[in-house]
Amino acid sequence: MGDGGSDTGEDPMLDSLICVAGSSIKKSGFIASHSTDERERRVIFVNAGGEELRRQGHSEIEVEADRFFQGGDVLRTDEEVADGGDLPSIYQSARYGNFCYEFRDLPPGDYSVDLHFAEIVYTNGPRGMRVFNVFIQDEKAVSELDVYSIVGANRALQVMNIPVSAGKDGVVSVNFQGVVGSPTVSGICIKQGAPELQLVSSGRDGKSLLCDNCFAPVKLTAAENKAARMSFTAKYEREIRELKAQCQMKQDECYEAWMSLTAANQELEKVRAELDVKFFQNFTLGQAMEKETEKMAKISSKYEHDRRLWVAAIDELERKMKAIKSEHSQLSFEAHQCANSIPGLNQMVTAVQSLVGQYDDLKMKFNEEQERRKKLYNQLLESKGNIRVFCRCRPLNMEEASSRPQTVVEFTDAKDGDLGVLMNGSNKKIYKFDRVYTPKDDQCDVFEDASPVATSVLDGYNVCIFAYGQTGTGKTFTMEGTEQNRGVNYRTLELLFKIAEDRKKTISYDISVSVLEVYNEQVRDLLASSPPAKRMVVRLEIKQVSEGVNHVPGVVDMKVENVDEVWNILQTGSNARAVGSNNVNGHSSRSHCMICTVVRAKNLVTGECTRSKLWLVDLAGSERLAKTDVQGERLKEAQSINKSLSALGDVISALATKSSHIPYRNSKLTHLLQDSLGGDSKTLMFVQISPSEHDLGETVSSLNFATRVRGVELGPAKKQSDTTEIQKLKLMVRLNNFL
Ligand code: ADP
Ligand code: MG
Repeated sequence: MGDGGSDTGEDPMLDSLICVAGSSIKKSGFIASHSTDERERRVIFVNAGGEELRRQGHSEIEVEADRFFQGGDVLRTDEEVADGGDLPSIYQSARYGNFCYEFRDLPPGDYSVDLHFAEIVYTNGPRGMRVFNVFIQDEKAVSELDVYSIVGANRALQVMNIPVSAGKDGVVSVNFQGVVGSPTVSGICIKQGAPELQLVSSGRDGKSLLCDNCFAPVKLTAAENKAARMSFTAKYEREIRELKAQCQMKQDECYEAWMSLTAANQELEKVRAELDVKFFQNFTLGQAMEKETEKMAKISSKYEHDRRLWVAAIDELERKMKAIKSEHSQLSFEAHQCANSIPGLNQMVTAVQSLVGQYDDLKMKFNEEQERRKKLYNQLLESKGNIRVFCRCRPLNMEEASSRPQTVVEFTDAKDGDLGVLMNGSNKKIYKFDRVYTPKDDQCDVFEDASPVATSVLDGYNVCIFAYGQTGTGKTFTMEGTEQNRGVNYRTLELLFKIAEDRKKTISYDISVSVLEVYNEQVRDLLASSPPAKRMVVRLEIKQVSEGVNHVPGVVDMKVENVDEVWNILQTGSNARAVGSNNVNGHSSRSHCMICTVVRAKNLVTGECTRSKLWLVDLAGSERLAKTDVQGERLKEAQSINKSLSALGDVISALATKSSHIPYRNSKLTHLLQDSLGGDSKTLMFVQISPSEHDLGETVSSLNFATRVRGVELGPAKKQSDTTEIQKLKLMVRLNNFL
């Protein structure tokens, strides 16, 4: 046992480099064994980074050139390597860098590996320049080996007997991994068989367990073995304690790491939750953003549209402004011209003012003239008499014409108002009237003469127009007429509207119409809307509301605006008259039909207001009735008719004689007409006659009544009237109705 023994047991630092039990470090080079066994055990010995070496002699050594390596470079030195043993030249070359060795095709079994090192480049150190690990079959065999720090520069070092097993693949791999700098190796020797447990020397006595010459294990005594094992055990127990302490430390570190990991996880969870919230918020915001963007797009498109409209509008305005400006300059130019051309503008104003004054003056004069015209017109009518009588003879009717009757009337001088009546054959009597109408004269001719009287109602006069005569002589025809051939009533109202229209700038008229019937001394309102089925007879009373103004309370007073309304009202009245009677013609001839037109006028210039009435009366038939016919209801009717017609005669008579008492109240007829008979009122009577000789009696009777009426002059001229004439007249009326 010499210095060739392992140093491992002596140096704890070296122990720590060895990771596999059984291996050891030796601070010197390779010493060849003399034993054949040892020689035969060597399977492969490579000179890393160097050539094949052979040493002949008693200990034949065969070292192969460098192979089995992968990667790395070659290092060489010519310097001598101290303690190089039997083969110092293998330490003059080395493989260094990133490399590994892989030995193949080894029979499966146990082997031991020797590694040879020498620091041949960094001769002068320092330590720690090259530190590396060695793995055999992936297991760490040497840890953090720093050759320089163990043996110094250019000195050999061996790590020996690292046990390894080759599996079925027959491979043994040796890996070098640098910790600092690049690893180097000078030689690798693989020997067959696992190394014997090499008990190192106890240290104290420096005894080795290997033979100095052949490195063969030396058999130890039991006590020595025990001591060796104890030392081994102590070494491992120390290592275990250290490892335990390290393990505890690592555990603590692990625990702390785990704790901080848990905390970090919690933090992470929190952050993740926050992230979720943020994500959701972000998503919501994103949606809101999208909506807003959409809105914005809409708004901006609307804005764009509006802007275009405004631009167009502004352009248009600018164009108009230009036009207005040019118009304005044109106008001001014209105004200047005007002002220049009228130097006497003030004079003109004065002239206009004086014209206005003249206009007012003329207006006043016009009103005065109008007033005068009215008066003159009235005087003209008065000059013709306030009561006028027109005689109208109807044509022969079909029946009369077919029976060839004698015509008893003659119209030779009708134009002069003369009517001839043949009495008893040859005796002809002439009657004189204001107008005489032959059967050929039509409604127009009749109205032409009647209209001045009728229309004086518009000048504020009360007017009465009667149709008197035997039944069937044309009273109704004259007053009402037919739709194709309208009579006085309709034509009068038509004319009133026409004149009112003509005068509307100076006078405004309100025209209203009521239609009454007097039958058996009862007044019926023919416009009242009482149900006809009940034959309701509205009995109206007559009241005097003021001097010369009569009024029938409750009577329907229809305001009319045009002639169509008038026609409707007249039709309504006419239809109502027929209702409630078994014999329509009979009834109508035995009652008086009275149309009252009230005219309210306002002079727009003077403000003067008037109210006047126009009565249009279709009287009951004036014929006498045979005594035998007169009984029951007919007697009552006859008495009523007689009463009213004679009362009409009495009133006219009393008016003519300027009697202090005018008996208006003797009949409903005269009572109703009270404010329209007498005074300034105008009266027109149509006396209707038949041409037939059958009616001669009645014709003569009617003509006589009319002649008497015409003879009585109302108004101022009438003062001289003969009262005896009136008495005669009254007598005649009575006779007419009773005989
Ligand atoms: P009264 O009302 O007096 O009883 P009407 O007016 O009813 O008489 O006339 C009787 C008939 O004679 C009617 O058919 C009417 O058309 C006709 N008649 C009356 N006068 C004329 C006339 N002037 N021209 C044509 N027909 C007339
Ligand atoms: Mg009639």
